[in-house]
Amino acid sequence: MSPVIPIRAAADGGCGDTPVLRERGQREVFCGLTGIIWLHRKIQDAFFLVVGSRTCAHLIQSAAGVMIFAEPRFATAIIDERDLAGLADANTELDRVVTRLLERRPDIKMLFLVGSCPSEVIKLDLSRAAQRLSQRFNPGVRVLNYSGSGIETTFTQGEDACLAALVPELPMAAEPAAQELLVVGTLADVVEDQFARIFKQLGIPARFFPPRAARELPPVGPGTRLLLAQPFLGDTARALESRGAQRLDAPFPLGVEGTTAWLAAACEAFGVPLERLEAVTAGARERATAALARQRVALEGKRIFFFPDSQLELPLARFLSRELGMQLVEVGTPYLHRQHMARELAWLPAGTALSEGQDLERQLDRCREAKPDLVVCGLGLANPLEAEGLTTKWAIELVFTPIQGYEQAPDLAELFSRPLSRRLRLAA
Ligand code: SF4
Repeated sequence: MSPVIPIRAAADGGCGDTPVLRERGQREVFCGLTGIIWLHRKIQDAFFLVVGSRTCAHLIQSAAGVMIFAEPRFATAIIDERDLAGLADANTELDRVVTRLLERRPDIKMLFLVGSCPSEVIKLDLSRAAQRLSQRFNPGVRVLNYSGSGIETTFTQGEDACLAALVPELPMAAEPAAQELLVVGTLADVVEDQFARIFKQLGIPARFFPPRAARELPPVGPGTRLLLAQPFLGDTARALESRGAQRLDAPFPLGVEGTTAWLAAACEAFGVPLERLEAVTAGARERATAALARQRVALEGKRIFFFPDSQLELPLARFLSRELGMQLVEVGTPYLHRQHMARELAWLPAGTALSEGQDLERQLDRCREAKPDLVVCGLGLANPLEAEGLTTKWAIELVFTPIQGYEQAPDLAELFSRPLSRRLRLAA
C-alpha cells in the first residue's frame, strides 16, 4: 500500500492460516427468499414471483412489513394440495398465474420465478417454465428463475442466486478492450450515489450491478474489472468471470479502512494515483474517523460473538476489531469463501475463533459459556438470548441498513453501540 493513505497491516499476520471450525448441524437462518425484500426495491421494473407455499408468502410479507406499497413487486403463486398431486397441473397453473399477472401489469419488464422448498419437493422445473414463458412473452418481458429455497440457500444467498441468473442476460461489452469498473452487489441508492460520485471524481468509468432498471443492464466482457460490494456473491462473481470479467482483490467497503482499501483497489486497476484518492476522499475520511472515535468510547474492549447469518460477519468483525477496538469471541459465517475473504482474513487478529456453518446447540453452548457483551444473531435466537441476560443485535438489520462507505461508517458503529447503551440504561 502506498504511504499516501496508510492502512495498517495486521500486526500479527492476520487470520489467513487460522483453522476454521466447520459445523454441519441444525441451522437457524432465514432462507434465500428474504433477498427479495431488498432486490425488488433495487431493480425497479422487475417482479419476483415466489412459487411456494403459504409459509413462503407469509415470510416475505412479514419481512417486507411496512415496505409494501400500493403496487407491490413481489407475490407468491401458491402451490396447493392439487398441485402437489400432479406436476402437469402445477405447470398449467403457473402459466395461468403469470399470464394474468403480466396482462394486469404491463410495467413489468423482468419477471423472476423464485423457487422454494415446496417447488423443489415437487420437482417443478422452473428453468423450463422460465424458458417457455420467456418465449411466450418475448420481446416485452424477460422471464428468469433462481432458487430461494431454505434447502439450498441462506438468506443473502438469494441475492447471489438472483444476480447469477441475471449474468447471462448482460450484453457483451461493445469494446472488449476498454476497461470499465463493475461494482457488484445491491447497495442502497444513497450509498450507490456516493460511490458513483467518488468514482467520477477519480475518473474511473463505473457501473453498478444489479442496475436500478432491468432495461439498464451493464455490459460485461474482458475489459470489465469487477469489485464486489457484498461478500456473499460467489456464484455471481464466477458467472461474471466466465464472461471475461476480472475480479479485483479487495476487502469490503465497511468502515474507513475497508472503504479506502476497496477504492484503492479500483484506483490501482485503473492507474489512478493514490494521491488523487486521498484528495478526493480526505473530507469524508476525516469526518468518519472523528465520528468513529466517539463511538469507540462505548465499544472498545467489549466482547462480541457472531452467529452465522449473512456472510457479512468477517468484514464486520474486522471493522469492529480494528477501528473500534472490540474483542472477537467467535466469528461465525454460513460460508467462508477463502479467495473473496483473503484480505479480510489477513486483517483479523491472529487466532480469532472462526466457524463456518452451524451446529446450533453447540454454538449456543459456546456463546453462553463465553458470556460476550454483545451477540449478533438471527431474530429467532435474539429473544431467548436476551431473556438469558445477553445483549443481542439482529443480523438482518445489518443487511437492510445502508452501512457501506465513509458516510455510513458511524451509523454502522452505532448499530452495535445502541444495544449496549440500551442494556446499560435498563440496568441502571
Ligand atoms: Fe420456508 Fe422454504 Fe418457503 Fe423459505 S422457501 S419460507 S424455508 S418453505
